[in-house]
Amino acid sequence: MSSCSLPRADWAATRAGAVLTVDLGAIVDNYRQLVQRTAGAVCAAVVKADAYGLGAAHVAPALQKAGAKEFFVAHVDEGLALRPSLSSHARITVLHGARPDALAECVESGLRPVLNSMEQIAQLRALAERKGKALDAVLQLDTGMSRFGLSASDVHQLFENPALLRGISLSLIMSHLACADTPENPANAQQLERLKQYAALLPPAPLSLAASSGIFLGAAYHQDLVRPGAALYGVAPNASGPNPLKQVVRLQARVLQTRTLSKGDRVGYGLTWQAEGPCRVATLATGYADGFARQGASTGCAWFKGEKLPILGRISMDSMTVDVSAIPEAELAADALVDLLNAQYGVDDVAAAEGTIGYEVLTSLGRRYHRVYQNHA
Ligand SMILES: *Cc1c(COP(=O)(O)O)cnc(C)c1O
Repeated sequence: MSSCSLPRADWAATRAGAVLTVDLGAIVDNYRQLVQRTAGAVCAAVVKADAYGLGAAHVAPALQKAGAKEFFVAHVDEGLALRPSLSSHARITVLHGARPDALAECVESGLRPVLNSMEQIAQLRALAERKGKALDAVLQLDTGMSRFGLSASDVHQLFENPALLRGISLSLIMSHLACADTPENPANAQQLERLKQYAALLPPAPLSLAASSGIFLGAAYHQDLVRPGAALYGVAPNASGPNPLKQVVRLQARVLQTRTLSKGDRVGYGLTWQAEGPCRVATLATGYADGFARQGASTGCAWFKGEKLPILGRISMDSMTVDVSAIPEAELAADALVDLLNAQYGVDDVAAAEGTIGYEVLTSLGRRYHRVYQNHA
C-alpha cells in the first residue's frame, strides 16, 4: 500500500522534518477574485493532479463551499477518486475523456467526458445507443495548439453529418490557449476567432476557452465558462506587474544540524561549493526527493525571519545545506524551522531559481511532508 510511506495524519507536526501548510482560505479568496473578474461566466475549478499537488480531497470541498459547481480533472480515475468528496450536484469533467474500457463507468459514475477525437465521439454515440438515452459530453476543438481536440476537418465532418453526434448532449464546447501568459501574442485572438468559427458549425452549446492566464486577457476571452487551476493555487497569471493572487503554500524545513566552516572548507556532493572565509551552515531536512530540483541549488535560498539563506553546493536527496552566517547562533540552531516557500517567496520565485514554472514547483511538492490544512471555511 502506497499510504505506508506517507506521514500519518495523527503524528504531531513537531516530529516532522518538514511541514507543508496549505491555506484553504487563500485558495477560496483566489477563487472569489476570479469569480469577480469573470462576472457573467461560470467559474469552474481545475483540480487535476491532486489539485496541483495540494490535495484535491481538501481543496475541492473548500471550493464547493465557496460556490464552485464545476470541477475538471484529467483522468477518469482522478474523477472517480474525487466523486465522494463532492456533493452529487457538483459536476466533474474529465479532460482526457475516457479510454474505451472506462467509458461506461465514467458515465455511470456521473463524470462528464471531454470528447477529443472522432473515435471518442463514436464510442460515446455507441454507448448512448446501447443505453437508449442521450449522454452529456464536452467537445474539445483544436484551435491552434495541436494538443487535444477536433481538427477543422473533423468539425466540417460533423457539420455535414450531424447524425455523428446522435445521442450526445453537448453541454460545452471548449478549446485551450497556447500563449495566454503572453497577452501581446496574436495567437490568442486567432484561437478565440477559430473557436467561434468552428462552434458556429456545431449544435449550439456554451463556450469555454480561458484557463488562469486567459482570464487576465479580458472579458472577450471569458465566454460562458472559465477553467482556472494555477491561479487558484497562487501562481502568477503572467509576468507583468505584481501577482494579484494570494500565496497558498508555506513550506518549512527543519534544521537538522549546524556547523561552523573555515576558509577553504567544502560542502555537499562533488564538493562544488567552497567557503571563502569563516561561515556557519545548516543542513535542512528537505531535498530533491521532496521536489526541490537540483538545478535550483545555485540561485535558490531558504528564509528565516526575513533573512535570506543561500543554498550551498548540490541539493541531496533528503537534505540541502544553506548559509546561516547572517543569523545569530542563539536564534538558529538544530530543530529550528526555516521557510522554503512563504507569502513573500512563493512558487514562482522557487521556479525562477530552478529554471522552471510555478506549476511544476507545485506539482513536484513531495509526498512525505507533514501536511497541515489551514483556514477551512
Ligand atoms: C490544466 C488545464 C486547465 C487549467 O490551467 P491553468 O493554467 O492551471 O489555469 C484548463 N484547461 C485545460 C484544458 C487544462 O489542461
